[in-house]
Amino acid sequence: MAKPLSAAAFLAALRAEGVKVKEVGDWPTHNRNHKGPWGPANGVMIHHTVTSGTDASVRICRDGYAALPGPLCHGVIDKTGVVHLVGHGRTNHAGGGDPKVLARVIAEDYGDRPPKPTQGNTGGEDGNARFYGFECVNLGDGKDPWPPAQLDAIERASAALCRAHGWGAKSVVGHAEWSSDKVDPRGVGMPGMRDRIATRLKHPASWSRGSSKPTNPAPPKETPVATTDSKVTALHSNLLTIGSLTEVDGKGARVNHGAGYYLAHIERDTTALQLKVDRLEKTLAEVLALLKTKS
Ligand SMILES: [Zn+2]
Repeated sequence: MAKPLSAAAFLAALRAEGVKVKEVGDWPTHNRNHKGPWGPANGVMIHHTVTSGTDASVRICRDGYAALPGPLCHGVIDKTGVVHLVGHGRTNHAGGGDPKVLARVIAEDYGDRPPKPTQGNTGGEDGNARFYGFECVNLGDGKDPWPPAQLDAIERASAALCRAHGWGAKSVVGHAEWSSDKVDPRGVGMPGMRDRIATRLKHPASWSRGSSKPTNPAPPKETPVATTDSKVTALHSNLLTIGSLTEVDGKGARVNHGAGYYLAHIERDTTALQLKVDRLEKTLAEVLALLKTKS
């Protein structure tokens, strides 16, 4: 049972590991602790944002949106390797996941990869209580590149938290390794990233790879998405990513809402609105007809 780091300890760990940090607003107290538990901390989770541009990505991850309030992670890792701290405590990033994976992450007893998750976001184990989360700026379309500086920051930030908690690299997982309905971080080979983190952890925090910097570890084989339209693919990926809201209802029960939940609500509200407009148009036509006959 690991007590989560304080904001100060979190920041100090990142800086000691050579991470370039940018503090955003009231990040040390910006969290979702009023909606559910934070801790025990059991690991680090890596994501992609399905967005582009540092400022917009940081803003979304800090504020969230109506259906999924922020913060959406602890740190946003931009393409130049800067980690923007947007929240500390419980954040909306991991959603529901597979309890079997959590057990293996805690034990750090798996091989290359944790067992493939069979539990999705809805009804899954509450990952927002258990994981630190880093959102990496990437479109998640399998084409957007992962610059070496960004991968270096993922390695350092993850290693910093592992070092502070006394964990090994197997405490670091990708969102897709946690939840059966997630695909991120698409384009980063997590086994290779864990190798990098493990190597780093054998050295002091101040260690630098120098000129022998590895490139992106071999990405996993992709399951082809049944569309050739990259915009549709990105949208699809985005829908998978936003379906990670875990909230506590009035009775203290945990409720997970997937993207479909919001789409259904949007459709229902749009239909209701359309009916209202239809009625208004009809009434207006009647009124106009009435005015015409009177004039
Ligand atoms: Zn994710």
